[in-house]
Amino acid sequence: MKNLLSTALILLLSATSLALSSCGVSGVSSNPEPQFDAQRALRFIEEQVEFGPRVPGSEAWSDCRDYLMAYFDSLGYNVQRNDYTHVDYVTGQTVPLTNLLITQKVQPSQDVSSNQAILLCAHWDSRPRCERDPDPARRADSLPAANDGASGVAMLMELAASIKDAPPTVPVAFVLFDGEDWGREGDVNQYSLGAKKFASHSDTKLYRYAILFDLIGHPTAKFRKEKFSEKFASAINHKVWTAAKELGVQRFIDTVGQGVIDDHLPLLNAGLPTIDIIDMNYKYWHTTLDTPDKCDSAALHEVGSVTLRVLYQEQ
Ligand SMILES: [Zn+2]
Repeated sequence: MKNLLSTALILLLSATSLALSSCGVSGVSSNPEPQFDAQRALRFIEEQVEFGPRVPGSEAWSDCRDYLMAYFDSLGYNVQRNDYTHVDYVTGQTVPLTNLLITQKVQPSQDVSSNQAILLCAHWDSRPRCERDPDPARRADSLPAANDGASGVAMLMELAASIKDAPPTVPVAFVLFDGEDWGREGDVNQYSLGAKKFASHSDTKLYRYAILFDLIGHPTAKFRKEKFSEKFASAINHKVWTAAKELGVQRFIDTVGQGVIDDHLPLLNAGLPTIDIIDMNYKYWHTTLDTPDKCDSAALHEVGSVTLRVLYQEQ
């Protein structure tokens, strides 16, 4: 009798926990966290770099824009293209720029207003110059931008594929900023052109928070909490570094590192809590050596898995 009772109790308890695990707080069914395919993400870096440097206005840039639009469209997302221009006040040149906003066609929750999306961000442009190149003769060359650009874009591309069939409960949107790396060193007004445009022309209240990915593909990449992210969006940093701890990912180091001027700043200024996941010790930064062989699947796999953990824990 005692045994029967305990068996009945165990059955009851497991039925309850099954019911709980299949139901989000809002009553929306939650899907299991998918695996992140880092090999495919690595190929997305190679494919972008094969176009050549995606310097705004170049043929490589417009070809890559079409490739990115076709890719997200083929996965079944809405792709909004936002074209605009910037007048470079050093040269007088009018620079064409394009942001891409990618959203789910079917939102996981119908009540979008009470269930704002998480916005994942990267920059898809390439720097027009390599002033850190060890060879002075190559400093006027454009950046291949494998890690400084394409790695973040590849992260978004693979995350979009990972979540499409069984999305998390929370809506997810992706934005690819142009013109992040346009400015000359020290000229902060001509950096983050796309993020500034997005922050001033979008309803940032549609989003719960944002995560920016930059320079995430190098095998030795280490991620400390970026200083401005920690100052203005520490709760988001906490979510990400806690997920990394749960997964045993050691390249996320739970200390506050340097601050950096990057695309998270315009979003923070617009009141959207945003963090920057960035490796600030990339040795090939702004050199012609920033090529796909400097990226590997291990770092991408860890960043992708941590992000999926965060997304699938949200209700
Ligand atoms: Zn850069």
